[in-house]
Amino acid sequence: MSKTGKVYLVGAGPGDPGLVTLRAKECIENADAIIYDHLANPETLGWARDDAEITYVGKTPGESRSNQNEINALLIKKAHEGKQVVRLKGGDPFVFGRGAEEAQAIAEAGIPFEVVPGITSSIAGPAYAGIPVTHRAHNSHVTFFTGHENPAKTESAIDYAALAKLGGTQVMLMGVERLGSITSEMLKHGVRGDLPVALVRWATTGQQETLTGTLGDIAQKAVTNAFAAPAVAVFGEVVTLRDKLNWYEKRPLLGKRIVVTRTRKQASVLSSKLRSLGADIIELPTIRIGPPIDLREFAELVQDAHMYDWIVFTSANGVEAFFNIFFKLYDDAREIGGARIAAIGPATAQRVKDFHLHVDLQPKEFVAEDVVREFKKQGSIENLNILLVRAEKARDVLPKGLSGLGAIVDEAFAYRNLPETRDPIGARQQLAKRGADLITFTSSSTVENFLSLGLPWPKGMQVASIGPITSQTARDNGLKVEVEAKRHDIDGLVEAIGAFFARKAATNS
Ligand code: SAH
Repeated sequence: MSKTGKVYLVGAGPGDPGLVTLRAKECIENADAIIYDHLANPETLGWARDDAEITYVGKTPGESRSNQNEINALLIKKAHEGKQVVRLKGGDPFVFGRGAEEAQAIAEAGIPFEVVPGITSSIAGPAYAGIPVTHRAHNSHVTFFTGHENPAKTESAIDYAALAKLGGTQVMLMGVERLGSITSEMLKHGVRGDLPVALVRWATTGQQETLTGTLGDIAQKAVTNAFAAPAVAVFGEVVTLRDKLNWYEKRPLLGKRIVVTRTRKQASVLSSKLRSLGADIIELPTIRIGPPIDLREFAELVQDAHMYDWIVFTSANGVEAFFNIFFKLYDDAREIGGARIAAIGPATAQRVKDFHLHVDLQPKEFVAEDVVREFKKQGSIENLNILLVRAEKARDVLPKGLSGLGAIVDEAFAYRNLPETRDPIGARQQLAKRGADLITFTSSSTVENFLSLGLPWPKGMQVASIGPITSQTARDNGLKVEVEAKRHDIDGLVEAIGAFFARKAATNS
């Protein structure tokens, strides 16, 4: 390969995928190889190309030097292969993450590189706990220090006397497990015992927890509460502002772990809506969209689309597949001729509008039976030609219903729902290890494919379904459905889940 490689040292932000920069996302989307850490949210890997090489080099605390050397060597090797390499690190790459050392190694090897700063947990962690690191009434400087120094260093390089004198806000990364000796050094050097302290763990994720106390008692409290890493510690008066400013931990679904089973591409809308209510999401895609078995036949139907009176789209995927081919065949949207367009469900309609085409009929309900009813309202469709663009193996209700009204229906199989067999981010293991409160099913295939993975069912995991058909499939497979959306779309599902947990909380209190 003649192309020269490049390394992108990319900050993945503190955890919430919404806190990743646009540049970071772009780098992940373009990468040939991604090398990521323990603290880089693996969900961001969902943006990677299907053929990107993804390597986990997560290091547990106390990692050895050679391990870091191996990572440096790996970055250099991949770049020498001519690859665009993304080195994805939690938070900001140059804040206590050894990113600086990696940059040096890459520079020494003469490899071009770019640094993409990220939102660091040292500021975002406190912010998500309702603690501004500065406030003009309380401090005029902030110090960041590490509680976990290079083990090779003799004695502590942290000048506790200077820290004590400095005052202001102090933010410590790493080292919660050494909190006892760190706080006692601070006390010994004259910091007052009642200085407010907060520890924020897994900040900005659905697992965020905050523990507050004073310099005198925080270490003991951390032990009592088994408050483990990763955590950011904040020392300073600003911690008291949390009493009024705590916002994140008040969200209704905080602490609820919810599994999202849609395709990797479609998962994000559902995930981010649930996440914004505070839920902790495990994205475990069970479906992947593949081309139809007979792509040529589909292309021929697309080519003839202008000869139909109606084109009916039943899913956003169908719209996407249709126009993909359409615009390969034609360079003018007017080639669609006089065909009118029906789209089932708002997401489908939106996708049609994205292509700047008008939706003539948009049945309010998302169930095939209702679509037939809507068509009936249009007057007679007898002898009209209808092109139904849909997934292979979809239910027959719609074509039968429309033929029943006298229409001449051609089915265009636009795509196939395939089981997702890959799990590059280890979601299955996460589910097994951490369990979940709820699993969401957005179609019958998500139910069937999830079950055919044969994963052990986590204790107490309940089921939420998007509508009656999906629920029926779940029941047919022996599952009990606790939540069913009243409106059969993503917003309806999110609403039903919110109401479900609110009811549960009310009966438990
Ligand atoms: N470069 C990273 C820090 C790497 S050092 C950044 O800018 O955030 C690793 C330490 O960062 C952890 O020990 C912990 O102190 C902190 N950390 C990273 N992500 C965190 C999170 N989501 N919640 C709490 N602490 C976090």
